[in-house]
Amino acid sequence: MKIKSKLLIVGAILALIALTTMQGYLIFNTYDLRKKSYAVESRTKIGSIVKTPYVDSLSWNYRMEFVEKIPEYKNGIITKDSLLNSLEKFSSLKNDTFLDYFKKGAEYYNLDDNIQFKKIATSIQLSENGETEDLLIDGKDEPIFLLGTNFPTDEGLIINAWNWTFDKDYTNTLNQESTVDIKYRATIYMKILNWDTIIFKRLLLLFFVAFLLFLFIILLVTYSIRNLLKLKRISDIKTDFINNITHELKTPLATLSIATKTLTNKFAKDNKDIAKDSIDTINRQNKRLQNLIDQVVDNSVGYNDINLNKEQVNLSSFLKDLSEDYALTLPKHIQFIKSISDVSEEVSVDQFYFSTAIVNILNNAVKFEGSVIKITYQIENFEHIISISDNGIGISKKNKTLIFGKFFRVSEKNTHNFKGLGLGLYYCKQIINAHKGTLDVKSRKNEGSTFFIKLPLSNGKKNLISR
Ligand code: ADP
Repeated sequence: MKIKSKLLIVGAILALIALTTMQGYLIFNTYDLRKKSYAVESRTKIGSIVKTPYVDSLSWNYRMEFVEKIPEYKNGIITKDSLLNSLEKFSSLKNDTFLDYFKKGAEYYNLDDNIQFKKIATSIQLSENGETEDLLIDGKDEPIFLLGTNFPTDEGLIINAWNWTFDKDYTNTLNQESTVDIKYRATIYMKILNWDTIIFKRLLLLFFVAFLLFLFIILLVTYSIRNLLKLKRISDIKTDFINNITHELKTPLATLSIATKTLTNKFAKDNKDIAKDSIDTINRQNKRLQNLIDQVVDNSVGYNDINLNKEQVNLSSFLKDLSEDYALTLPKHIQFIKSISDVSEEVSVDQFYFSTAIVNILNNAVKFEGSVIKITYQIENFEHIISISDNGIGISKKNKTLIFGKFFRVSEKNTHNFKGLGLGLYYCKQIINAHKGTLDVKSRKNEGSTFFIKLPLSNGKKNLISR
């Protein structure tokens, strides 16, 4: 059972971890997919905005202005840099018009305003008479910004690239007619600003539901594990109880059966003394059995079921009398110390139940190997405090709160020899609770225990002092 429940708990925790990892993976995948589909969606919209005759004509215009400058370059009138600068200058003159147009297009196609567009020239090649002569810019050079917003290229996503060729006739320095073949390559990019926030916002509901589900599963698993542990504890307590009660029943039953055998024996019929002895034994064991049953029945009640017959009692004299009587029952080797203050304040208690509780605690002190037992009584912090301490085997920290539970017995190797059903302290607690008091313990393993019974001052006096 122990291994089985441990396995179940480990299994449940592992399943929870696996489930969480899977959920995390699925969410991450969904996030990635959403990101991709958002990019595709935006790319399509940008395509629709810029692939129009109007934008084509804008581009055509600055390209042609650039082309017109090429003969000057070929004839050495302007440098390569000023040729390239002229392309940048011509295109920038058109950029305001383009940005205006792009903005309107973005509104029309519902493109989010966090998306920027840029067009650059990445390669321009001039060749004459079929031979590559001049690579004005190529992939490795700084590209020339043409249209849109000039964000760093590595922050953008490529949308498209295309080539354009054009032949330009011109008269060279030798006054000969020649043709320059222009190969021009442009690329368009988009940049999505706050990309993560946008996707996160779109997935907010999914995250929320996933989080709730996750929370629900964690609660479910914790609840199930707690239930499982509780059931296991109850089943352990049950087993212990059955073991204890069968152990307790064995002796009287064995004695009873011997006594009955003796009685039925022909010899006993003729011998009245033997018959009387046997009948006495039967009576004693019968009483013992009855006591056991009564203990189980009486001691299992809750404090609501205890009907108190309360009367005003002076605890000082009550405890003094009780201790005097109790001392008589103790074996000689036990030292019993009484430190009972004289207090005039009376308390409303049921004497029968109250003495049962105190005697139960005293009996435990003896049973669990106390050789010095002390009972004290005084008023402190506006409470009647009775303490019963012993120097016996003590109680470990983990068992201190459990010992007041029904049928609970400390089950450690060296505690098997102590007889009992695990009901005594439960019953004491019910009695003290029924008196609106508290029962607690302070104890250390192998150092003894002190039980405290605290009762409130019955008339609420705050200025009462021990005499
Ligand atoms: P029982 O004495 O029949 O076992 P109790 O309810 O009186 O049942 O006590 C519950 C458990 O608390 C005991 O089994 C014992 O382990 C522990 N216990 C109670 N009193 C003492 C004590 N004075 N010293 C050490 N252990 C104690």
